[in-house]
Amino acid sequence: MKLKLFGLIAAVVAIFVVIGTFPAASSAEKVYAYVVDPYHAYSYEDMVEDANALQSMYPELIRLGSIGKSVEGRDLMLVEFGHGNRKIFLNGAVHAREYISSTYLMYMIDRYAYAHATGSLWEGYNLKDILSAVTFCIVPMVNPDGVNLVQNGIDSVKDQEKVAKIPFYPAEITTYSLWKANINGVDLNRNYPLNWLVRTPVKGPASSQFKGYIPLSEPESQAVANYLNSSMCWAFISFHTSGEGLYGWDDGNAGFYPQLHSMVTRIIASSGFKKLVDTAETSYGTFAGYVRKTYLKPTLTVELCKYIKVHPYPDEDFDSVWKPAKNICLIVGEEVMKMEEQAYQVYQNDTFLHAFYDERYALAFAKKWANSKVIYVESTADTD
Ligand SMILES: [Zn+2]
Repeated sequence: MKLKLFGLIAAVVAIFVVIGTFPAASSAEKVYAYVVDPYHAYSYEDMVEDANALQSMYPELIRLGSIGKSVEGRDLMLVEFGHGNRKIFLNGAVHAREYISSTYLMYMIDRYAYAHATGSLWEGYNLKDILSAVTFCIVPMVNPDGVNLVQNGIDSVKDQEKVAKIPFYPAEITTYSLWKANINGVDLNRNYPLNWLVRTPVKGPASSQFKGYIPLSEPESQAVANYLNSSMCWAFISFHTSGEGLYGWDDGNAGFYPQLHSMVTRIIASSGFKKLVDTAETSYGTFAGYVRKTYLKPTLTVELCKYIKVHPYPDEDFDSVWKPAKNICLIVGEEVMKMEEQAYQVYQNDTFLHAFYDERYALAFAKKWANSKVIYVESTADTD
């Protein structure tokens, strides 16, 4: 009997200890863990699941939203990371087979958020300072339908008959794993209103290079353009995967943006990436070209991976993608923190549109908007 009673007391104590430890751990010492596993074909579903897990682990640092829907109705997920006033726009997987750029962006959020929660330095960068001065507004997967086609084949597509009729470009391609366009066969990095009348090699829907019949014909590029029109960003980076290099390092207007030069110099020193030069093929309809011309702010296209003939880039080789590029966004964040205040604000009627540090750029921008005016706001807080 005595023994039994002792056993009962021991059991009650054990239960109390087990129950007792949970509230203590969650309130006083929150447990953080890595979320993103990058070493496999990173799917739309992986991204959504990981984003939700990250948001619940770091609610003070991460907010989730959607900027619109893809052709097949998937949400174009927006991850706002940080809580500073100066927004920086990042996107990935504009091209379907380059989905490792989505892996890169999600892995980056995961690693930075973890380092922020468990310390504050990341390789000498002060994450607390950076993430309280800037917010990274990230659309990790601009082309989720195309990514689904690349990873799961045509059987997984909603309108298989339509997609089966879209030819491959170039014609020697025979597999959907090399697809770049969205599911309508429009190249989302050729669909923006930039040098629209340039003669192009592809005249109709194709696996790559078709610009669309009209600018912003696709819901994905429209969603990005609408988002940028209504949220003032200070810098823009689009992540692609071929060539370990940067486009946009000098578009002849480098003097317009004092931070562009140091941004590029520091990124090159940190990553070993090279400067890439736009060709005729990359001079029309591109996201970066359109954004740079519209908002007159630092805009880069980063090609993350080594140039290899295999596509998609091998997932198991993710470390070789991450290592050189792991500090790029923090460099951009630090440079955006140094940018001059943008005191020339453009309003359309009473709606704030965008702001510039140089009156000439504000006037040039205002010209494109009906009923707009430029207002100089002396020494304001940062424009949100
Ligand atoms: Zn690309």
